[in-house]
Amino acid sequence: MPLELVVSDLDGTILETEDYHRRAYNVLFGELGLAQRWSKEDYSKRLATMGGEKFREVFRWLDRPADEFEETQKELYARKTKLYVSLIGADLNQQKLPMRPGVKRLLGDVLSEGIPLAIGSACVKWAALEVLHAAMGEEFVSSLATVCAGDDVNRKKPHPDIYLLAAEQCGEAPANCLVLEDTAHGLQAALKAGMTCVVTPSELALGDDFTGAHILAESLEVPARIEVETLKALVD
Ligand SMILES: [Mg+2]
Repeated sequence: MPLELVVSDLDGTILETEDYHRRAYNVLFGELGLAQRWSKEDYSKRLATMGGEKFREVFRWLDRPADEFEETQKELYARKTKLYVSLIGADLNQQKLPMRPGVKRLLGDVLSEGIPLAIGSACVKWAALEVLHAAMGEEFVSSLATVCAGDDVNRKKPHPDIYLLAAEQCGEAPANCLVLEDTAHGLQAALKAGMTCVVTPSELALGDDFTGAHILAESLEVPARIEVETLKALVD
């Protein structure tokens, strides 16, 4: 099978951004007058759960009437996402948030070889696009085959929906697609979609179980440089 489509996750795979979700929650807790803060360890335990579970926990702390849950969740999610994007934007501007090693090179090479490149992010679309623009620039974003985000699918990772949607939108069979991921739930989504998956764990996912990964490496540069040819050989 030839490699016909590369789909990259965003958070943790392109940028070490997973921790910005935690930081955004903590700023949000401060804004809400809550004393709770999530340490990296606290957050890491919650990373495997879906966003809704985290908001359910925060909702319990707020002690609001049960029938206000949905409205509160919407409001908190919107605010948390705004905080998340602005924290990332500020750090990218101040060059405090570097790209993960090898990402710019490999994704650039994928595009130069004429292989379509898509993004599959659990993030809401406007936020994913804003982070992609800030990190990779206008030209990169306009060269993407598609950007599939959390609000495009009903079921988030570890369900395969987002990767299947990316393949469908690009008209490719899942067996011809290769996914770049950083977490176990992302890997599960790719494998359940029937795709090849290269995992470079982000800092919050280092303890995850990556059984089934076609390549598991510290980064796209270490221990060995992962090239387009490497990806092609995995799918072949
Ligand atoms: Mg990720």
